[in-house]
Amino acid sequence: MHVVKIKPGREKSALQRHPWLFSGALLPVTGDPKSGDTVKVLDCNGRFLGWAAWSGESQIRLRFWSFDERETIDRDFFRRRLNRAIQQRAAMEHMGDAMRLVHGESDGLPGLIVDRYGEVLVLQLLAAGPEAWREVLCDELQALTGARAIYERSDADVRELEGLPLRSGLLRGELPAVTDITEHGLRYRVNVAAGQKTGFYLDQRANRQRVGGLARGADVLNCFCYTGGFSLAALRGEARSVVSVDSSGDALDAARVNLSLNGLPSERAEWVEADVFQYLRLLRDKGRSYDLIVLDPPKFAPTVQHVERASRAYKDINLWAMKLLRPGGHLATFTCSGGMSAELFQKIVAGSAWDAKADMQLIGRFTADIDHPVSLNFPEGDYLKGLLLRKV
Ligand code: SAH
Repeated sequence: MHVVKIKPGREKSALQRHPWLFSGALLPVTGDPKSGDTVKVLDCNGRFLGWAAWSGESQIRLRFWSFDERETIDRDFFRRRLNRAIQQRAAMEHMGDAMRLVHGESDGLPGLIVDRYGEVLVLQLLAAGPEAWREVLCDELQALTGARAIYERSDADVRELEGLPLRSGLLRGELPAVTDITEHGLRYRVNVAAGQKTGFYLDQRANRQRVGGLARGADVLNCFCYTGGFSLAALRGEARSVVSVDSSGDALDAARVNLSLNGLPSERAEWVEADVFQYLRLLRDKGRSYDLIVLDPPKFAPTVQHVERASRAYKDINLWAMKLLRPGGHLATFTCSGGMSAELFQKIVAGSAWDAKADMQLIGRFTADIDHPVSLNFPEGDYLKGLLLRKV
């Protein structure tokens, strides 16, 4: 068992149960822990702080599994943590048959994401800790859920920061020919092998439903539509027309399939493969306007280092969307950038309104849905923020 000591004064975050410790907080380590090994973490006086996974390549050198000295990090530990996460979601079954079962740090399992799509589980191992426990995690997940298949999508770029290879493929069972899910009564086909992330953006579930509730009679513009989540919600909400824009042709093909799975009126739906930054300007040149606009772009600021460039991008799309919005119209605008605070995002959007000469009211806020908890010890987990605005 390797023992890691923390520099004097740098133990505070661990005492507050923050799950990460950065390399700069550590005293020189005796021995040579391997990435993924469990280490015992002590303060400089030898007081116990926690059990953590060692990530030799990452700036985030330690991720805590437990702050309880009596706990052993073994198969039973992972079974207990997985079971706890799954049991906590039992009351959410009415939302549909797709759900985030394990949300990393905030579920006490740093670096592990598990999404359930019907009988299929999709696993993302985003750090050296869960990577080392891959087989155990698979065994226990299968035993706890009875899943028909477990598919790995550890092909996220953050793995490179851990010195881990990008990897995806089937781990257990076999994939059904198609994986269809139901979300608040709408059916979506999820491509777990080739879709983005784990296949679907479950975090926006409640927000899709809420935005759909504003769509009656509206001309809707859904920017960054992916497989049509907000578009279908708007059509079910009796939108008059929905224009959906994405740069991915594959996503748009999947969106068309989703539309037909629900028997929604295809003559009201237009799918456009384009770059949103350019397309918003084109719509303005054509003199178009809308009653409801959704902006759900990808992460422009993965970390705080990218915030400045990201700010310009958010400002730009929000400005053009506000210009395209009719008086009385609604804008649902999101950021999923971990590096951007809710305060900063609101400031940027206020700047867009100023430059667009649009008088905008804030009438609501969005977060990720309730299967994506945010531990109060881990504010970094609060990545999805959105504003619901109305043009006066
Ligand atoms: N709102 C969606 C999720 C959006 S994910 C849902 O509810 O499911 C972000 C999407 O933006 C991805 O589908 C990606 O293909 C698309 N995208 C990224 N950059 C883009 C750009 N510059 N223009 C248009 N689409 C873009």
